[in-house]
Amino acid sequence: MALESRPDQPHEFETLLESVRLMHCDNHAGEVASYIPELSKASPEHFGLAMATIGGKLYTAGDAEAPFTIQSISKAFTFCLALEVAGHSAVLARVGVEPSGDAFNAIFFNPATNRPYNPMVNAGAITIAGLLCEELGSGAFDFVMDRLSAAAGRRLTLDDAVYRSESETGHRNRAIAYLLLANGALTVSPDEALDLYYRQCSISVTASDLARMGATLANMGENPATGAEAFELRAVRNTQAVMFTCGMYDYAGHWAYDIGVPAKSGVAGGILGVVNRQLGIATYSPRLDVKGNSVRGIASFETLADELGLHAFDCTNMGSSFVSTLIV
Ligand code: GLN
Repeated sequence: MALESRPDQPHEFETLLESVRLMHCDNHAGEVASYIPELSKASPEHFGLAMATIGGKLYTAGDAEAPFTIQSISKAFTFCLALEVAGHSAVLARVGVEPSGDAFNAIFFNPATNRPYNPMVNAGAITIAGLLCEELGSGAFDFVMDRLSAAAGRRLTLDDAVYRSESETGHRNRAIAYLLLANGALTVSPDEALDLYYRQCSISVTASDLARMGATLANMGENPATGAEAFELRAVRNTQAVMFTCGMYDYAGHWAYDIGVPAKSGVAGGILGVVNRQLGIATYSPRLDVKGNSVRGIASFETLADELGLHAFDCTNMGSSFVSTLIV
């Protein structure tokens, strides 16, 4: 597809996002998550797409302003913050960076280390939440909220109903937290780590917010629209690496093969992709496949990766630099 900007017409990115939306909006496969009761209230038809550039621009289609909870996408950001706050070696002493090849909520640790495989599955993210509590005490959630808000470029809020719903029903995560305590990966109480974890998962965002947060990662940790410093430079590199290898749970290998950009998904239906030094891309559609990834989200990213040549190892065109004239 030839992409060029003309001031009198919608930007090519907007036209592209709308065509991707139309291409996939009749796909009704998958189920809205219901194991957290409050999530089952989401409208299954919601479908939003957004792309934010490191030039500070935002392009959207469909329900890009519909709110939903960030869920597991928060794990990428809390990992990034833990690297900064606790230091790289302290983080890596508690959690690995190897794909687990298992479901996000698996009760399964690396047998060689007794530690969670990576920070993108629940066990790893609860460990990271515990580390943030250890370092920051009762200020941990405010710290996370401040930095995620800086990345999004607006003050984010907590979805209290989802937070309460998951706190009341998250027995499997409680089991994981107690095993982490027994293994020495948690040094704070399971309740303290889980409270931060449930709160971070219940932060309310839109596809536009997520795209901007992705653009902040793509822009070396600085929000390109506001200039706010949200994340540390080296932590951003390592976060994108773990998103690339582990961000889509037991679909991570397939995602890297087909789509080829660092990404993270959440059970509320969001997917965030990062095109380093170029774009943040986000989709929101709540119907999930059996691995917990948004069906329309994956389909949309496949189309976008093809159209824009986003795959990190694409050698049939100029790769991700293909879009570079359009991102400023
Ligand atoms: N809060 C959710 C849970 O712990 C997050 C899972 C997800 O988004 N994959 O189950």
